[in-house]
Amino acid sequence: MQPSMQQPISIFWFRRDLRLQDNAGLYHALKSGHPVVPIFIFDKYILDDIEVKDDRRVEFIHAAVSELQLQLVKMGSSLEVYYGYPLDVFRDLLQKYQVNGVYTNHDYEPYAKQRDEGIFNLLRATGVSFDTYKDQVIFDKKEVMKENGSAYSVFTPYSRQWLAKLNDFYIQSYPTEKYFSQFYRQPALPLPSLTSMGFHLVEMPYPSKDLVEEIIFKYGDNRNFPGSEGTSRLGVHLRFGTVSIRDLARRSRKLSATFLNELIWRDFYQMVLWNFPRIGESKAFKPEYDNIEWRNNEAEFQTWCEGNTGYPMVDAGIHELNETGFMHNRVRMVVASFLTKHLLIDWRWGEAYFAQKLLDFDLASNNGGWQWACGSGCDAAPFFRIFNPTLQAKKFDPEGKYLRKWVPGFEDFSYPAPMVEHDFARKRCLQVFGKAVNALRV
Ligand code: FAD
Repeated sequence: MQPSMQQPISIFWFRRDLRLQDNAGLYHALKSGHPVVPIFIFDKYILDDIEVKDDRRVEFIHAAVSELQLQLVKMGSSLEVYYGYPLDVFRDLLQKYQVNGVYTNHDYEPYAKQRDEGIFNLLRATGVSFDTYKDQVIFDKKEVMKENGSAYSVFTPYSRQWLAKLNDFYIQSYPTEKYFSQFYRQPALPLPSLTSMGFHLVEMPYPSKDLVEEIIFKYGDNRNFPGSEGTSRLGVHLRFGTVSIRDLARRSRKLSATFLNELIWRDFYQMVLWNFPRIGESKAFKPEYDNIEWRNNEAEFQTWCEGNTGYPMVDAGIHELNETGFMHNRVRMVVASFLTKHLLIDWRWGEAYFAQKLLDFDLASNNGGWQWACGSGCDAAPFFRIFNPTLQAKKFDPEGKYLRKWVPGFEDFSYPAPMVEHDFARKRCLQVFGKAVNALRV
């Protein structure tokens, strides 16, 4: 649609929903009746905080934004891509266009909530509406609650309620493509390059976003074995919205209840973050766990970060993470348990390390995973259940496929000796955790 200069427009703001198809907020923008100017902001507040300038997530976002641009240019439109502070960008947009309304999708993280409040206030002061929609989860905020109206903190009853509520309505696609003619027509605009924003290209391949139905079909049998290609690797695509959660839920409902269950965990952690804001403030879900007397030995933390603990399963996981930005879920559990329970290092240190390295880093799930492993979270592994990394390797990598891939010398004499003996570490953990939670079980 070609507007005259005076004609009002709508803006659609892409954030963690980098796709044109089946995008809730975009659908509503395109139906607003005004030409839609699509925008993306490389947010300086976020990028300035990233110390290592070869962050592959920024590269992933840049590639996804470039792909959006290609699709929009084919339709005679263009993405407007900014590098700046969101409030400044919106002030400029209000000068440039007669903006009728701004549309976007909900983002539940603490920084995003604060940012959106600022944008909402700016727009409201000039009479412009700001509408946000649920897009990245199936159920959010307070949609799945206990009968008494409080939020669930245990997964199983939550998932039961989630499944009972699920029907075709919640997973139907938003047919944005019917309204693509509503995009504002203009010549293609350039995108800021990664280097102009201070980042370097790494050029490592990303997991594909094509759902391999075969993997989902056999997910229940294979998902715990890191040596097999048993999981979808869609985490990064769900994180940045390059796949639609509704599409994935629709397909997995037919293929695998176990896989669908994992998508429910994802919703669960987002729900927890929303309803228990102390999670976003890095507090333990169970407050007594904030009394743990962590050892927090920096040299030992470094050894863990380098994957030299002497426990091949832990080391393999860290090597996989450091080299690819991915770590298998079973291994994430073992690695996180080892840091918190064997080394008595605060889960927040590990959480921060994963946040820096994981391609699929997501505040809600990462926090949920770490607090689960440490025992401090909602519906967490009890603190007295301490994974034995050697037995975990035997059980879940019986042929040593995963270990051989990531720590090829693990059977050699020269392989580092375990940095802490398992039985000793186990007893020490029970004492320290037991003291904090007043339930000594040595
Ligand atoms: P699949 O096994 O194929 O599962 C499909 C999707 O379901 C995943 O992509 C993810 O979106 C969701 N999912 C699967 N398992 C979980 C789970 N336990 N909790 C929440 N969602 C889940 N997941 C993240 O998306 N971001 C994180 O930052 C993150 N940090 C974690 C940290 C720790 C310590 C632990 C134990 C788990 C963490 N997880 C995180 C959950 C899980 O490990 C990953 O989602 C999964 O390994 C991603 O691989 P995949 O895409 O092949 O998942």
